[in-house]
Amino acid sequence: MTTTAPQDRSYTEIRDAVRALCAEFPDSYHREVDSRRAYPEAFVDALTKAGWMAALIPQEYGGSGLGLAEASVIMEEINRCGGNSGACHGQMYNMGTLLRHGSKAQKELYLPQIATGALRLQSMGVTEPTTGTDTTKIKTTALKKGDRYVVNGQKVWISRIQHSDLMILLARTTPLSDVKKKSEGMSIFIVDLRDSIGKGLDVRPIPNMVNHETNELFFENLEIPAENLIGEEGQGFKYILDGLNAERTLIAAECIGDGYWFIDRVSKYVSERVVFGRPIGQNQGVQFPIAEAYIEVEAANLMRWKACDLFDAHLPCGAEANMAKYLAAKASWEAANAAIQFHGGFGFACEYDVERKFRETRLYQVAPISTNLILSYVAEHVLGLPRSF
Ligand SMILES: Cc1cc2nc3c(=O)[nH]c(=O)nc-3n(C[C@H](O)[C@H](O)[C@H](O)COP(=O)(O)OP(=O)(O)OC[C@H]3O[C@@H](n4cnc5c(N)ncnc54)[C@H](O)[C@@H]3O)c2cc1C
Repeated sequence: MTTTAPQDRSYTEIRDAVRALCAEFPDSYHREVDSRRAYPEAFVDALTKAGWMAALIPQEYGGSGLGLAEASVIMEEINRCGGNSGACHGQMYNMGTLLRHGSKAQKELYLPQIATGALRLQSMGVTEPTTGTDTTKIKTTALKKGDRYVVNGQKVWISRIQHSDLMILLARTTPLSDVKKKSEGMSIFIVDLRDSIGKGLDVRPIPNMVNHETNELFFENLEIPAENLIGEEGQGFKYILDGLNAERTLIAAECIGDGYWFIDRVSKYVSERVVFGRPIGQNQGVQFPIAEAYIEVEAANLMRWKACDLFDAHLPCGAEANMAKYLAAKASWEAANAAIQFHGGFGFACEYDVERKFRETRLYQVAPISTNLILSYVAEHVLGLPRSF
């Protein structure tokens, strides 16, 4: 059985083209890269050369000027074909911050180069070890000295630094004690990693459960040119929040791609695997968890399209983007559990790829936002319940 998305959302041309590219990078490619904990350099290069990584960059800056719905189809298809968009999804949404809040000069300098692949903007540095999800308490500071900002502090879990030329950095420019609202006094900057690593920025990789290149960052008097400030000083937190709806929605689409991948794989396996003289998929105890996961992936998909439509119409979509991410991450995890369970021992064998995708999809209930924080957002901002933090 092959699962299909609803017809009116077919985006056949994009899907066919991305699938054709992905077919050149079969399971064995992703498995081998995973086993070496390496970066899928050739795959990301091919996506970039084909223009998929520049989907959201307007045509005037060399991109294809597509909407979030189309971008989400690209991410979905990568995961649905057995790959992991986590290697490159940062480029899709980090660029949005520059696009919405950057100056004309910044956009003209960076966006065309990002579109051609001459520059990669894959990284965003927000999370800190001692403050975690409580972002407004970040301790990394950027203090203006003449025509430069001097950065000191620490970040953790910052992804793709070793495969990016640029990073968007959130730092405090006014102490928390001097601002009226805790969300004020933070700013965002473009950090040119090529000029920074070893010159005030120290990068230490964090070995982890997934093949996801992520790092600790230590800033000691790193100097950034003042013109690298994005937008207005002190407004950075607002700008970061602005970009999160795209990030949540794209990651929801990736989880949906994973969900379909698990369901396709396990459905095929249980139809062919014979135990007790019949296919194991003939047992309802085996069918039901798979059917349940499929229902949940389909339902999550509806919320994903709702979020895309609102975003592309420039309407508020915080609730929908968060709910799509919540539902999709949960659904792909249910599908992953069913897939590993009904592959029996073979689910644990690397050559079946289920264990790799199982690890990859688990991340999305914790990062880039934990499910608890989404529940808290909905409780407070949608239901109007009292603020808990
Ligand atoms: C592989 C990976 C890649 C990442 N990449 C990046 C990146 O590129 N850039 C970046 O800035 N960050 C990145 N992160 C960080 C990620 O966004 C955070 O790990 C995530 O937001 C959770 O923050 P934390 O780890 O500090 O958890 P904490 O804030 O310590 O929270 C731990 C857990 O406690 C619970 N919790 C916390 N507060 C509450 C509350 N008030 N109510 C209920 N439950 C609560 C949640 O379940 C949460 O999962 C990455 C993380 C990982 C694992």
